[in-house]
Amino acid sequence: METSALFDCQSCGACCAYSRFWPRFSLESEEEIARIPADFVDDENGCMRSVDDRCTALDGRLGAHVACRVYEVRPIVCRDCQPGDAECLTARKRFGFPV
Ligand code: SF4
Ligand code: SF4
Repeated sequence: METSALFDCQSCGACCAYSRFWPRFSLESEEEIARIPADFVDDENGCMRSVDDRCTALDGRLGAHVACRVYEVRPIVCRDCQPGDAECLTARKRFGFPV
């Protein structure tokens, strides 16, 4: 399978459901964080709010079809994550997705 087909984020979502402390905010300004709907933000821990390790902004079913509800204003680490990088492979392995 071609890499682009193997690491199709819209049919994966593993890295959005990997840890209740991820994604963390890093270099975002207060204004940038304020653009993210408050229901999805965990102010106390400085990250997106998660339930059972899954980011609450993730819509859909893992490994089938997913979408980020805050895509336009998502955190920096979400923008930096690249399909096929080390973090991606770790997350996909956890869910038994092919790497
Ligand atoms: S784990 Fe990799 S393929 Fe899956 S959504 Fe994240 S970056 Fe995309
Ligand atoms: S903010 Fe969006 S891209 Fe980032 S972990 Fe949550 S659902 Fe995934």
